[in-house]
Amino acid sequence: MARYTGPVCRLCRRERTKLFLKGERCYSMKCPVSDQVTDRASRNYPPGEHGRDRMRQGSEYLSQLREKQKARRIYGLLETQFRNLYEEANRREGITGENLLIMLELRLDNVAYRAGWGASRNQARQLVRHGHVTVNGKRVNIPSYRVRKGDVVVLKGSTRENFHVRRNRDTLDNQLPPWLEAAQDGFEVTVLHPPIRENIHEPVQEQLIVELYSK
Ligand code: SF4
Repeated sequence: MARYTGPVCRLCRRERTKLFLKGERCYSMKCPVSDQVTDRASRNYPPGEHGRDRMRQGSEYLSQLREKQKARRIYGLLETQFRNLYEEANRREGITGENLLIMLELRLDNVAYRAGWGASRNQARQLVRHGHVTVNGKRVNIPSYRVRKGDVVVLKGSTRENFHVRRNRDTLDNQLPPWLEAAQDGFEVTVLHPPIRENIHEPVQEQLIVELYSK
């Protein structure tokens, strides 16, 4: 499945918030939208030649659009994939916005990221894509694969010694969400149950996305 391969920091700058798309750099002073960098070094304004001019207050539609783009970029989906997921969330019982976020969280690449194997969802997706992850003992190389209650997701033995995986595990302070349970020194995670809204701490107002797509 296709994915965005352009520069990612500009996506954060466009949303004017940290989306944590680049791994280690996101936690450092090099992040251009970091609160810690000085005003002079900060590039916390939209990218492009007229970026600073775009900092005006937007319309209702614009805030809905930006919220959708933010969610889509956090989880690394293209527009069609995201729209299809929304349609599925809308067909399900319950609150559409929450259904959407829960389905995004249940993606296999997101679980690998939550487990701390990848410094970003992109890196976690790479691990899945290259066949380093198994679900219930079977190799699954589809990042969008949706895990279910009781699934056991494991990082393959040889990959555990990979330099990047080791460094991510040692340096990044990734807290495992309560709907996942770790074993084997964190290289095996079991899905205890699907997440509830309170377990998802991404800065997304899902109601605005529903309003956008309901027009
Ligand atoms: Fe770049 Fe990460 Fe900072 Fe986003 S959070 S601007 S991806 S360094």
